[in-house]
Order: sequence, then structure tokens, then C-alpha cells
Amino acid sequence: MTSNTQLLIIGAGPGGYTAAFLAADLGMDVTLVDPSPHLGGVCLHHGCIPSKTLLHATNIISESKEAEAFGITFDKTHIDLDKLRHWKNSVTTKLANGLNHLCKQRKIHTIQGKATFENSNTVCIHRPDESKEKLTFEKAILATGSSPVRLPNIPDSTRILNSTTALNLENIPKSLLIVGGGYIGLELGSVYAGLGSDVSVVEMTDGLLPGVDRDLVRPLERRLKRILKKTSLNTKVTHIEETNQGLLVTSENAKGKSDSQEYEKVLIAIGRKPNTADMGLENTNIKLDKRGFVKVTTQRQTADSAIFAIGDITGEPMLAHKAAHEGRTAVETLHGKNTSFEPKAIPAVVFTDPEIATCGLTENQATKENRAVKIAKFPWAASGRALTLNRNEGVTKLIIDPESQKILGVGIVGPGAGELIAEGVLAIEMGTTADQLQSIIHPHPTLSETLMESAEAFLGQSTHIFRPKK
Ligand code: NAD
Repeated sequence: MTSNTQLLIIGAGPGGYTAAFLAADLGMDVTLVDPSPHLGGVCLHHGCIPSKTLLHATNIISESKEAEAFGITFDKTHIDLDKLRHWKNSVTTKLANGLNHLCKQRKIHTIQGKATFENSNTVCIHRPDESKEKLTFEKAILATGSSPVRLPNIPDSTRILNSTTALNLENIPKSLLIVGGGYIGLELGSVYAGLGSDVSVVEMTDGLLPGVDRDLVRPLERRLKRILKKTSLNTKVTHIEETNQGLLVTSENAKGKSDSQEYEKVLIAIGRKPNTADMGLENTNIKLDKRGFVKVTTQRQTADSAIFAIGDITGEPMLAHKAAHEGRTAVETLHGKNTSFEPKAIPAVVFTDPEIATCGLTENQATKENRAVKIAKFPWAASGRALTLNRNEGVTKLIIDPESQKILGVGIVGPGAGELIAEGVLAIEMGTTADQLQSIIHPHPTLSETLMESAEAFLGQSTHIFRPKK
């Protein structure tokens, strides 16, 4: 059987469904194909949403313990794991049902199956019941996302978790080793530590969250020291062996010293790779770069004029909101708009406690590029709102162009940094200067004032810290 569609979208994650919805809103005939029966992709079902649901729960546990400092104590924490899992699943189900409903309202044709290209205008869709369907299309958008990188030479064991299986919350292991001190490792490590596991982290480089400015990581490191059993930097896992009780993990540090330790479970979170295999891309004109990402133009058009690509398969940063915006660019281009995906600032948030959020230029990047910048910081110890929350470890930081005084980058560490960063994105995208940012009235008492006060600090006029202009 062969059917036809004007726009085929492969992959129903935040990139794919955003593109599909916009295309339908613009009057296109859209078919959305995904192997899962549910829309939403990894982000909704095995990533952003379930992990944030669990982080919210474990943050409540730590907040309730910290309330002791101001005279409020609670009984011992009781965790009903089945109920917690059910609550997490109910959040994703609610959102997935919402997406389904929106899809139906827009009259988007959905097919459950895996699409393989036969040529630049035809795919064969393999359905879960093993039936096949051919679909011809005028244009296609590839949005197949990414999957976890596997550690080579490790046994096939249910005790070895990846981000998806860790989120299934099968049990609370007594001991858990996280391999990789990046986004996923630290977020899920925080969840399991909050639930009561002894969590250790092994990170290959000399610091957690490589790439993020160290002054933003430090407050998180200090707090993680309290909740993690051990953090080993400059260390690589070299061997994992399944034993009767768990997994015997051998690791080696930069000096060649090796160490073996047994853990009940191990979570591998060492990065993600683009999903481009077994899709028949060789039957199209699509080109991949050296790292296996699909090469695209600023309109997200691939080397094959009929096919666009968005999201994780087009490269870093692998973030849902980047995928969604690329999806909009691709669809708008197909609809005839002269547009391109050239953001000045893509926000990134590590949803640990405290959160770390950044956008635009980082101080690290500026140093690497030998670029002159001015840094202005406002310590949350001087923020009334931070003190009311008993959380004064945060820092808000601006990276400013010394000539134009425009804000080029923003970094925030502290609870709620992920919500605060949106103002930084707006400031950068609008070409805001430090002078303009300090003149905008921010509500008191809120953490958002720390952005204004950082700009004031740059100008030597911060109300709540004394730092005269040099
Ligand atoms: P990551 O790149 O953030 O971190 C991987 C870490 O593993 C790095 O610190 C790396 O140095 C380390 N590593 C690599 N090989 C190792 C080894 N053999 N032994 C020890 N350490 C090793 O990757 P991730 O945490 O897997 O996340 C993948 C992607 O998912 C990221 O690119 C991120 O953009 C995205 N993500 C985002 C969020 C968010 O926005 N909050 C959350 C989770 C994931």
C-alpha cells in the first residue's frame, strides 16, 4: 500500500511535534511517524519531564530536612516508591494525552512505526505488527533525536542503567555508581541520593559539568559533597563484572592507579549520540559530519533538498527547546518565509539543587577565544530574597562586551536559576546593554533582582554590594 503526504515528519519528540503542529496550523497536510504509540519522545517519556518530576519530589525531602535550621522539623521521611512512580507516570501520561488531543484537533495523520528512506521522496514504514507501508512525500523533516552512548566492553546486565531505565525507578539501590558527571549523571544522581541511595560519581575530566564556568559549578559541588558518597575526577571506568550481589567496578585515575568497588547498580551517563543508523539515509543525498550529526543549513535543510533535519541529530546542544525552535525554522522555510536558525543565546539548565543555568557566551568560551569581556557578578548572599529562602550560595553573573557594554552571556547558579535565565536570553537577543538592564524595574524581593544588581555592579552602582567601578 502506498499513500502520500505533503510533509512527512519522522520523530514525535519536542522537535518533531512542534514542527508538525506549526505545519498543520499553516495549512499543510502533515504525517507524523514515530515508533512509540505516544507522542512526546525521549524528553516527555524518558528524559526532561520524568526527571524533573522526581527532582521536585526529592527537593521536597531535602527542603523538609533543612527546615530544621529555622525551627521546623518533620517526622522521618517515608517513601512509597510505587506511589512516586505512579505520580511520575501520571504526569507524562497527562502531557502525552494532551499532545494526542492537539494532534487530532489539527488533523495530523499519525503512524506508529519506524521509517526507512527508499529514496529522497519515499519511506517504508515498518509497523510494530510487522506490516509495512510505503509513503511518498513532497518534503520531510527528520527529528529522530539521540540515544545514550554505551560504555564499551561492559556486561549485559539489568543492574547497569541508562537514563531511560534509571527513570523507571525499579528500586532504591543501596549503592549506585554514576559514570559521567554531566547533566544526566548529576540530575539522576541527585534523585537517587535524595531517595536514600549511597551515590558515587566517576568523571573522566578534571571537573563536574565540563564546559560550564567553574565559579558556577562550585556552589553545586559544595552541596553535592553533602549528598554524594564520593566523587572521583580524572577517573575512568575500565571494567565492570557482574557478581552475585551486584557489580564489581574497576576504575583507573589519571595517574594509572586502579581501584575496584562493588555497587548494587551502575548508571552510565557519558553522553548521547544521534539516531541516524538503519534509516536508509544512504538512499538519500543527506550528508553526515565526522561525529555523525546530519549536516544542515541555517534553515535546517540537509544536503538533500527535499529533507530537513532538526534537534539532537543536527548537533549540540542536545536540548528540547533548541529542537523545537529548529522545527519552527524548518516549517517556516517550507512555508516560504525568509528565516534562519541563528540564535545568539540558547539557554541550558542543569536541574540539580542548586540549578545551574547559562545562555550566550560563557567566560570559559571567551577565554578560549581570547575575546575581551568584562565579568560582573552579584552574590546571592546580598539578596534579601535568597536569605528568606535560606539559600545564599547562589551567584548571578553577566558576561559583557567592554566596548558596547552589551550583555553577551548570563550564568546563574542557585535555586530557580532555570526560571531566571529566560530574562538573560531576552537581554542577549534584544542587544540589551548593562545600563539598560540596570534601569529596568525588577520586583522586590525576588531573585530576579540579582540580574539587575549584576548590571548595577558592572556600573559600580550596586545598591546591595559595595564594589566601586575601577
Ligand atoms: P554530558 O555530555 O552532559 O555528560 C557526560 C559526562 O560524562 C561528561 O562530563 C564526560 O566528561 C563524562 N564521561 C564521558 N566518558 C566517560 C567515561 N568513560 N568515564 C567517566 N566519565 C565519562 O552527557 P549526559 O549527561 O549523558 O547528557 C547527554 C545530553 O543530554 C547532554 O548533551 C545534554 O544536553 C542533554 N541533557 C540535558 C539536560 C538538561 O537540559 N537539563 C538533562 C539531561 C540531558
